[in-house]
Amino acid sequence: MTSNDATTAGAEATFAGMWRDLAPVGRDGRSGGYQRFAWTREDHTLREWFASEAERRGLDLTVDRVGNQWAWWGDPDAALAAGRPGIATGSHLDSVPDGGAFDGPLGVVSAFASVDALRERGFEPDRPIAVVNFVDEEGARFGVACAGSRVLTGAMTADRARSLTDADGVSMAEALRAAGRDPEELGPDADNVRRVGTFVELHVEQGRHLSLPEVDQPVAVGSDIWPHGRWRLHTLGEANHAGTTRLADRDDAMLGFAAAVIAARRAAESHGCVATIGKVVVTPGGVNAIASEVTGWLDARGSDESAVRRVVADVTEVVEEFGGLVVEDSWTGTTPFDPGLARRIATRLGGIPVLGTGAGHDAGILANAGVPTAMLFVRNPTGISHSPEEFATSEDCLAGVAALTTVLLDLAGGAS
Ligand SMILES: [Zn+2]
Repeated sequence: MTSNDATTAGAEATFAGMWRDLAPVGRDGRSGGYQRFAWTREDHTLREWFASEAERRGLDLTVDRVGNQWAWWGDPDAALAAGRPGIATGSHLDSVPDGGAFDGPLGVVSAFASVDALRERGFEPDRPIAVVNFVDEEGARFGVACAGSRVLTGAMTADRARSLTDADGVSMAEALRAAGRDPEELGPDADNVRRVGTFVELHVEQGRHLSLPEVDQPVAVGSDIWPHGRWRLHTLGEANHAGTTRLADRDDAMLGFAAAVIAARRAAESHGCVATIGKVVVTPGGVNAIASEVTGWLDARGSDESAVRRVVADVTEVVEEFGGLVVEDSWTGTTPFDPGLARRIATRLGGIPVLGTGAGHDAGILANAGVPTAMLFVRNPTGISHSPEEFATSEDCLAGVAALTTVLLDLAGGAS
């Protein structure tokens, strides 16, 4: 079967309808970007939308201890007891500040549309299927990405989550209470995780690989999430007057920092990685004052752990040459998705490309928790993500729905 065989006119129509319904929620009329942050009014609207889509299809809506929403087709507990744990598919509905329309919602809308396509074919799954909306994936409000799946699987403690604060000093516990939830309920939810025998997340591509002329495919399957980390770079100097201090007398913290920025770019190029310094704090921070201290954050990622480590080593060498210091804030090694599952999906979909990704996802958190997990990526011709420029053609979105439908047909077994 090719992926297109799984497309149905009904699913196309429901996809378009859901996309239209979501389009205005949290949209900034000026930039065209989205402001959809966890446990805000916009998030509430999105959660209501999810619940109504579940109800419209007669799916059983459950909300776990963290607030992630699950819409089940079939009884997950009965199936689990019978040794046939369910299949979950979906993504998230929140956004980064001024985010695009596709990162997250494409996976949720495609999941509902795939359920519609399966039903239109008269498919009766052997394993129950859930559509899931993970809460707070982007971490835009409280600073920790994938908070919903992290707390769910125990990768982040409830205490830490409750104490995270947003830019206004509102804690997650307070935000939960304001949204009508009991913050004490927050915690790992093994019963809900156990129900998920397999997780498949469909996501817009966050790069241009599928658009390369030699690739030119609408859908890929994920192999792994690249190793990635964050490091704080400090360089020190002496504050002084920008007009009266002779160049020879200066101790300018910015020079060492600037050398580190250039070194990061060079190291990333020579080791085949990516490196970004997108946030800098300068002390004292005056236009007419020599910098006494610069702190910048290096984000480095690549397909190979040792290569990423070499990038950081090269940058550290330069920072230390200038008497500065590098501190590791976080490090996550390679997160492989289930290789057998990825192979099975790639084969079922006619040998589609297999791609690693430099972006984190709930799928990575579930994979790390031991859930067999796969990802599908839908071509994004702009290659841009986390921006209003993020895009996928409706043809490619429907190719994604068709691919996901084929995958669910294969994984859920049963009759069609
Ligand atoms: Zn996402």
